[in-house]
Amino acid sequence: MLDVFDRCRLHDDVQPVTEMGAYPYYHPAEERLADGRVRVHGRVLVSVGSNDYLGLSADPRLKDAACRAVRSLGTGTSGSRMANGSLTLHETLEGRLATFLGQESAMVTPTGFLANLVLSALVGPRDTVLADQLIHASLIDAVRLARARLRRYRHNDLDRLEHLLRECDPAGGALILTEGMFSTTGTLCDLPGTAALARRHGVRLILDGAHDIGLIGPGGRGAAEHYGLGSAVDLHTLAFSKCFGTTGGAVAGPEQIILYLRHQARSMVYSAALSPASTAAALAALDIIEHEPERRHRALAAAARLRADLTGLGYETGDSPTTIIPVHVGDLVLCCRLWRELFDEGVFTTAMVPPAVPDGQALIRVSTTALHTDPQLDQVAAAFAAAGRRLGLIP
Ligand code: PMP
Repeated sequence: MLDVFDRCRLHDDVQPVTEMGAYPYYHPAEERLADGRVRVHGRVLVSVGSNDYLGLSADPRLKDAACRAVRSLGTGTSGSRMANGSLTLHETLEGRLATFLGQESAMVTPTGFLANLVLSALVGPRDTVLADQLIHASLIDAVRLARARLRRYRHNDLDRLEHLLRECDPAGGALILTEGMFSTTGTLCDLPGTAALARRHGVRLILDGAHDIGLIGPGGRGAAEHYGLGSAVDLHTLAFSKCFGTTGGAVAGPEQIILYLRHQARSMVYSAALSPASTAAALAALDIIEHEPERRHRALAAAARLRADLTGLGYETGDSPTTIIPVHVGDLVLCCRLWRELFDEGVFTTAMVPPAVPDGQALIRVSTTALHTDPQLDQVAAAFAAAGRRLGLIP
């Protein structure tokens, strides 16, 4: 018999990159400062490597709300929502989220990943899921779990989407799965075109709003609000790990569908509910999202400023209109070396290498938050200038 443990080897590139001191993952933060900086290996760094776009994860209002919830409700829920883990606080958050998104109902989950896995309850082996090539791993896993047919189209390629829609088996169901704002490119979904195709072909449209809800749109309601197309989205999924500054997720949509998912989604029925602290923090974050639009304006303005500086230095940064700036490097090892050089310059970034991005398209993902000051952004640009010149990436 084969020993399955024998197959558990790391990717060939890990060892050389580690020997160079350029392994970019699992570096633990020793402290996260209120101004958004992080202490890693004893050094305080400017972080452009988080998804904390609104700068709420260390906000005193979220911390206070979380502490109050722990005092009255404890540290854990000790059971699934269905069995014994439900809190009135969950229901309050669900009601607020549904109203915020203009949906009938919502259901919270312990993480954003699990909110997406819930979608596996909607499709089965005879159904086809049409999905943008860049969707998150959790959405792909939901389709795999359901054993539905996954057909992917190039990022925002509506001609290809239409072609795939025409090829769908009329005997089965079909739905379109995409994201409001894509996490590696920072681009928005072409929602007007996608929604028109969904309507024309009579298929449901599901939008993962992990990155855009809280950040994009006049009221922070995401890409759907930005395009004035809230009612075109049949179901929304959310992650509290980005704009909401905590952990958790949610699915929002028609009451009957949410009720069905509460009973059919295995990750909902068989996994312990969102913690009191995270539930309360997400509620406090929603208050701030509703009342402090200046936070999203600042985060987006910071990105525009930094993007202009990085492009001016000679980096290729794509065409993201959001807080995510992909700095394209290409080669995996070179990307990790740039990550390390930036760390040495006092800047914490995220290296994105295959399989998170296609082969040969490694990049440094830079993201701005509402807390970044102009001097911090200048420090980031100066670090990219020095590190990029040392590695011969820019003139
Ligand atoms: N959806 C998208 C688009 C994401 O980028 C992520 C995480 N980065 C998730 C879902 C999962 O969210 P969480 O980390 O809260 O589980």
